[in-house]
Amino acid sequence: MGAERYVLANFKMNKNLFEVKKWADEFLSLLYKGKKLSLKVGCAPTFIYIKALKEIVIGTGFLVGAQNMHFEEKGAFTGEVSPTQLKDIGVDFVIIGHSERRNIFGESDELISKKLLSALKHNILPVLCVGETKEEREKGETEKVLIKQISILSKIPDELKNQKIVIAYEPVWAIGTGIPATKDKIEKAVELIREEASKFIKDFSVLYGGSIDEKVAEEIKDICDGGLVGTASLDPQKFYKISQNFDV
Ligand code: PEP
Repeated sequence: MGAERYVLANFKMNKNLFEVKKWADEFLSLLYKGKKLSLKVGCAPTFIYIKALKEIVIGTGFLVGAQNMHFEEKGAFTGEVSPTQLKDIGVDFVIIGHSERRNIFGESDELISKKLLSALKHNILPVLCVGETKEEREKGETEKVLIKQISILSKIPDELKNQKIVIAYEPVWAIGTGIPATKDKIEKAVELIREEASKFIKDFSVLYGGSIDEKVAEEIKDICDGGLVGTASLDPQKFYKISQNFDV
């Protein structure tokens, strides 16, 4: 049996409450009208809209995620949100190590590793983002960077090793640029990620993220297990078409 397939939306810091609800209503109506998708679809809105989204999609199988979390359950961490708080409002998955968290907010592999272990411990599906910058690719360091980022999986203790993890290959130079990576580059990176991840864990899916549109989804549907979608996910019609194209 192949790996489970996912198409996940990352809204980043976009949309207000009204717009999140409208998006969910529109996406669900497309889902009910269209052909039944065999893959899992989900969305990570801003923290404060997670509960509203969950209330709309409850019972549909649609996954609701967070874009980040702290690794501790509680404490003096002003501005942070804990895994138990996310579980409390029904969060299914959490994006960990997004390049915007790594590069704008200075998150290290060490911190990302703590978050990953905490998500696993609290039964929240982690979506671990990995990917090289433009500079790293130009210096021929793509493989080295991916191997290092994936190596945090070695810290997973035996009792958590059988839990599912989603890994998203997100080359930083392709995110939000409108210029997706080519099929060839995605294929090579996804192969390497599968090889490296399988040294440490058994149950994982590898997605691609970086300026995905429906054309990209159609092109890469056989080489990865789905996609993490930023800009295009903001439009429910586009997100639905991308989901359909990844559905094999
Ligand atoms: C992302 O930020 O995870 C992403 C893939 O963004 P975009 O689709 O806009 O490149």
